[in-house]
Amino acid sequence: MKVADKWQNVKQQIEAACERAGRQAEEVTVIAVTKYVSTERAQEALEAGLRHFGENRDEGLLEKWNNLGDKPVWHFIGTLQSRKVKNIVGKVSYIHSLDRLSLAKEIHKRAEQPINCLVQVNVSGEESKHGISPEEVIPFIQQLAQYDRITVNGLMTMAPLTDDEEVLRGCFRKLKQLQEEVQKLDLSYAPCAELSMGMSNDYSIAIEEGATMVRIGTALVGE
Ligand SMILES: *Cc1c(COP(=O)(O)O)cnc(C)c1O
Repeated sequence: MKVADKWQNVKQQIEAACERAGRQAEEVTVIAVTKYVSTERAQEALEAGLRHFGENRDEGLLEKWNNLGDKPVWHFIGTLQSRKVKNIVGKVSYIHSLDRLSLAKEIHKRAEQPINCLVQVNVSGEESKHGISPEEVIPFIQQLAQYDRITVNGLMTMAPLTDDEEVLRGCFRKLKQLQEEVQKLDLSYAPCAELSMGMSNDYSIAIEEGATMVRIGTALVGE
């Protein structure tokens, strides 16, 4: 299926979810996750009108960057090893996987200007998932004050792999609640306006629960 057709479908789902939640579709940024697909397919996504792309490995990002450059806005959405930070700084506009101080320190060291970061939270507590625990979010963000080239633009989570709608909703609601707690701190470096949650299987529910960024691979660019 062509990306343009998939994008039509996804767009309709997003509009329907926004309608149910009393939100505007413009409030939701769609990140096309291109990690499984070729550069040609990513190019097709660009031509279909998608503007935000996500990659989870530095190799994949660099390969596509070499062809597409800064035409898309790039989001780094995967686990980030500190030694890889230098490869992606200057190319990505958002890092969705800030989950430890050592990584913050490295980003701060390499970045020439403040970089938008989202703190990854392991809401579900699954051992296989990266991210900090919900209780750690506030103290972690407070400690980021020392790194002035990090802006905490939001929170990110990956929901558990389940069809249980209540479990998914619970996870997304928890992230939203944490966002409100962070916003109450009123920290200049942590506006925390974004909630990055929802993937191919659960983006409609995430939008109903307040997602401002959805990260969609399979349903949008998958072949
Ligand atoms: C792969 C990936 C996605 C997209 O997954 P799909 O199920 O294909 O939509 C979203 N977020 C992260 C962090 C990913 O690694």
